[in-house]
Amino acid sequence: MANIIASPTRYIQGKGELKNLCKHAERLGSKLFILTSNSGRGRVEPAISEGLRETECTAHYEVFRGECCDSEISRLKELYLASGCDLVVGIGGGKIHDTAKAIAYYTKSPVVIVPTIASTDAPCSALSVIYSDAGVFDRYLFLPASPNMVLVDTDVVSQAPLRLLVSGMGDALATYFEARACQRSNATNCVGGKITLAAMRLARLCYDTLLADGVKAALAVQNKVCTRAVENIIEANTYLSGIGFESGGLAGAHAIHNGLTALEETHALYHGEKVAFGTLVQLMLENAPEEELEEVIDFCMAVGLPTTLADLGVKEPDSKRLMEVATLAAAPGDTLGNMPFEVTPQTVYAAILAADAAGRYYKEEV
Ligand SMILES: [Zn+2]
Repeated sequence: MANIIASPTRYIQGKGELKNLCKHAERLGSKLFILTSNSGRGRVEPAISEGLRETECTAHYEVFRGECCDSEISRLKELYLASGCDLVVGIGGGKIHDTAKAIAYYTKSPVVIVPTIASTDAPCSALSVIYSDAGVFDRYLFLPASPNMVLVDTDVVSQAPLRLLVSGMGDALATYFEARACQRSNATNCVGGKITLAAMRLARLCYDTLLADGVKAALAVQNKVCTRAVENIIEANTYLSGIGFESGGLAGAHAIHNGLTALEETHALYHGEKVAFGTLVQLMLENAPEEELEEVIDFCMAVGLPTTLADLGVKEPDSKRLMEVATLAAAPGDTLGNMPFEVTPQTVYAAILAADAAGRYYKEEV
């Protein structure tokens, strides 16, 4: 099987870059169909309009109704076709991106993704997650290509609540460890190939960047400023982790995340917060060296990611419910099968309790 790496054709990141959206987009189209939330439009339209004047572009705005579901996708697809636009632009969070990617896919149009938060590594991926009208997971829509362009204005992203950036660090924390597990097991990555040297290096750079700049970035964003460290973390969360997970592969941490969704209490947590704890569980399954475990737990505690079941809101973890989590995580179709050794619900159950115990141990040490 071939080695494959996937990536957006162009990744653009900088302070105040939103005003250059039309200038960058002109290579792809001149009639922009911009999908945003109502409140999001108010925040981004002045900057976009400012840059628009220097180009031949026009902008048509549509307000997203809140769910990436088939009815919303077909509603917007019709509006897009009727508008005469030739480029789909999704500005906001994950569901808007996924909807924009789906509209572009169904109309064979180019797509630009503009994240306004850095809470997950999804913006760069060739994937849309489709939900039912009621918001229940329906299916993954695997797209034939990554977005044509991803544009990140770091001034905008750094103004979002700190918890979102920290969640993005949780999602990015797993990337290296999952890619490493996939490499050890020679597993297939998310784009149907084996891991390239480049993807493995990007995954490692993602982890190293978190360790070097994570705490500094969190402190800066807490104080609503955008520093070099913040820019580095935005790149780690969005680009390095995005390429790293898709072309490196998923393994234990994301499967544990999926298992944790069986616990009602964890629904209040963000994706990356659960993935961070999933990373600790994966390290336990691997019997990772103590120094590595300590490094990861120290990082989580320093930036405010969960390290114990109590942190996840699970106050009374009983064995029956944790076994449900372990069984769901070890489900045959999920990515625990990419670990380089056999994993059973029993070994996952033990690793969850061991990760929780380690998290509590290090908290007491502080
Ligand atoms: Zn993720």
